[in-house]
Amino acid sequence: MAQPPVVHAETLYLPPAPTRKGQEREDWSQVPGAELVYLWMAANLGRRTPVPTDTVPGDPGTYARVDDNRWMADCAACGTGLVVSTDDPRFGCTQCGRDWVPLIVPSPDEVAAIDADLGEIEGRRFWWAEGDPRNPVQPEPELPPVDPSWPDPSQEDME
Ligand SMILES: [Zn+2]
Repeated sequence: MAQPPVVHAETLYLPPAPTRKGQEREDWSQVPGAELVYLWMAANLGRRTPVPTDTVPGDPGTYARVDDNRWMADCAACGTGLVVSTDDPRFGCTQCGRDWVPLIVPSPDEVAAIDADLGEIEGRRFWWAEGDPRNPVQPEPELPPVDPSWPDPSQEDME
């Protein structure tokens, strides 16, 4: 059975349906992906956070991941998780108003491959980038060098 596609900002943050007869739905097709959440929050939750005009200096950025079938990232300042655009590698926070930081995303080809792979999986779907500190699979810590003067425990008499 086909699974629902992985959610991106562009598929989640849609203009609200018109509330009055004859009213046209707004066109957000030209809005950059990272800015859609600001319009959506204002339209749906009445929370008007200005779209950032600055970038946090020297910020290493935040990793995009797939969390329960949604491309998401977290604000390093307040911890808010937001659905993100993998096509617009900026992350700003509508909760605390933090300015843009780099959004660390795979290449478009890799995103397409990840979406396709996850589309084969039933149920809740997750993906983390290598290097993401939230990735539950972390590289094994390097073992300290063995001091040859120590006895080898595997050779000790077990009696
Ligand atoms: Zn925040």
